[in-house]
Amino acid sequence: MADVLDRQVLVLNRLWQPVNLCTARRAFSLLFLGHAQAVHTDPDRLFETHDAHSWLRISHQHDGPDIVHTVSTRFRIPAIIVVPRFDRLPRQEVKFSRQNVFERDNFTCQYCAVRFEIRQLNLDHVIPRHKGGKTTWENVVCSCVRCNTRKANKLPSEANMHPIREPKPPRWRPLLATSNPTVSQSYHESWRHFIEPNPAQVVLSR
Ligand SMILES: [Zn+2]
Repeated sequence: MADVLDRQVLVLNRLWQPVNLCTARRAFSLLFLGHAQAVHTDPDRLFETHDAHSWLRISHQHDGPDIVHTVSTRFRIPAIIVVPRFDRLPRQEVKFSRQNVFERDNFTCQYCAVRFEIRQLNLDHVIPRHKGGKTTWENVVCSCVRCNTRKANKLPSEANMHPIREPKPPRWRPLLATSNPTVSQSYHESWRHFIEPNPAQVVLSR
């Protein structure tokens, strides 16, 4: 059951924009706290929204690999939830993580501009930590092991090594969901409506 609850759920803000992925565990907790609604993704009822109560009813009518059984009942894992009170915009919501820095920089060393396998990459603090550099989107870049070693604890001006692109927080990039193998495994067909939005469909759904 643990694996099923680790499945990824697409989180939409109140404007139905994709802002994040969360685990099914987290999605259920938001749903049962009343902070989120589950979005129906079957073609005949696409985009219907449900609170915990009506989602539970839906779950009883459904069978499939996306069902979680508990002692007393069963729940369908939603592929999408919408958080109506969530009015943040997507770009603020990409979590800072090692993987996401690699994704932002397209697995390309920001010093020698070569694309590498993930195991040959490191994170580099542009302004070194011991000189006050922070671990933020603006100060951390993807670097190959060789460049990372060469730059060591020097400032860009001291090492004469400058990132090829100014590091910034990334916008939500739909490709995150398809370029990352661990995510793409759980890439749900219904996400396409939001990740590659077709305006006509979105309008019809509201
Ligand atoms: Zn390099």
